[in-house]
Amino acid sequence: MLSDVLTIKHPQPYPESYYAASRVETPDRPVLSDTVEVDVCVVGAGFSGMSTALFLAEKGYQVALLEACHVGWGAAGRNGGHLINGFNGGVSFLEKHLGVKDRDVIKAYHLEGAEIIKDWVGKYDIQCDLKFGHMITAYTDKQVKELEEEIDQLHAYGLSDMHMVDREVAQKETGSSVYAGGYKDPYSGHLHPLNLVLGEAAAFEKLGGQIFEQSPMIGYASASYGVLVKTAKGQVKAKKLVLCGEAYMGDTEKRISKRMMPVSTQVIATEPLSETQQKEILPNDLAVADCRYILDYFRLSADKRLIFGGGSTYGGSTPAQAEQKLRGNLEKVYPQLKGIKADYVWTGNMAFCYTRHPDLGTLADNVYYLHGFCGHGVNVTHIYGRTMAEAIDEKFDRYNMFTKAPQRPFPGGQRFRVPYSIAGSWWYGLRDRLGV
Ligand SMILES: Cc1cc2nc3c(=O)[nH]c(=O)nc-3n(C[C@H](O)[C@H](O)[C@H](O)COP(=O)(O)OP(=O)(O)OC[C@H]3O[C@@H](n4cnc5c(N)ncnc54)[C@H](O)[C@@H]3O)c2cc1C
Repeated sequence: MLSDVLTIKHPQPYPESYYAASRVETPDRPVLSDTVEVDVCVVGAGFSGMSTALFLAEKGYQVALLEACHVGWGAAGRNGGHLINGFNGGVSFLEKHLGVKDRDVIKAYHLEGAEIIKDWVGKYDIQCDLKFGHMITAYTDKQVKELEEEIDQLHAYGLSDMHMVDREVAQKETGSSVYAGGYKDPYSGHLHPLNLVLGEAAAFEKLGGQIFEQSPMIGYASASYGVLVKTAKGQVKAKKLVLCGEAYMGDTEKRISKRMMPVSTQVIATEPLSETQQKEILPNDLAVADCRYILDYFRLSADKRLIFGGGSTYGGSTPAQAEQKLRGNLEKVYPQLKGIKADYVWTGNMAFCYTRHPDLGTLADNVYYLHGFCGHGVNVTHIYGRTMAEAIDEKFDRYNMFTKAPQRPFPGGQRFRVPYSIAGSWWYGLRDRLGV
């Protein structure tokens, strides 16, 4: 499978991106070259691994975090930076699939990821340009109707501050004439994702957590004390192990890899916009995503670049002409930015589960995993990280609830699941283009 961190060269630097170029000062962490003994070993320093580790450290556990490259090297440090509340399956997901009946509880879950991030940004003084204000847009009247139905449902769960806007307001808020309407979401927003995960790493270390970079886990084995986790040059003796490598873990653990599909998406960061351009295109600094299957998502960075992402590719392949592809999409939304210079273009992989619900569970005694956050991971990884830390702490209520989410391996087995999914995504992409 593509994107396996075991097949790339080490030491592996951050990929070139706007985020890597504007990251806060952060130390290079040591390579694991000895034997370390801890309560819990977490593999993968993205949002899911880092939030699990930080919640555990807050509870007083001794934790070692193994990262194949650098903290935030994967999707956590490359994404669009949209902090979108709720779950992929919509607000009714918890009721329909997990049996939650109390609508106040459902509302609290919907908002929990942003609450955790807001809390940590304040408590640990994380400089990640967190801003609230988000909008989902529609291209067609049919999509507007679908968004209206979604808003009715959100209101039924008490999320009453989210509201529809008509064509005129949608076009004014986005500075684009392509939209037929949309809804505004004051509970969601945007941030510098790499600086968020780096801030979480600093908080984790202040609480006594240990991070080892350029130290991919190459395997593990059960042991009398729990689990022995191996890297090329060292080992961790832990009571428990949590695997959080998501799309970049490849086939390191085949029982997980057959349950998820790496999907790549691309991002462009333009040169900084002029004040006139900023005011015209995103006057209220909202982050915007459209509601299509293969969507555009964009926002302004703190230094007023347009960070524009889109284009999903199943199987994790990287289109050679990422800039050309994104530029075409960007210029359809913003013809007034035709020819604007792209200072950075990058790609990244995220993991999808077949049912689109994130997946968490156990692989053996004392070995846990979480993955499959799709394009919704900034928020949901933090909810699942908290849930995993509770389970390690022997409080299984939320963990047991989330394991009820329907899951199944991708059709086509190890060999054909990528081509099957490419065919599926081509069909949905065609529907987007036809506006049906
Ligand atoms: C381009 C892009 C744009 C996106 N935009 C958004 C967005 O705007 N909003 C949103 O909510 N979501 C977005 N997403 C999705 C979101 O980024 C992911 O869902 C989220 O980052 C998943 O976090 P994670 O920690 O599980 O995985 P990752 O962040 O990918 O972290 C996994 C880490 O594990 C490490 N690792 C893997 N294998 C091993 C091993 N064997 N040993 C040690 N370490 C290992 C990797 O090096 C990596 O650092 C986007 C994703 C991409 C790629």
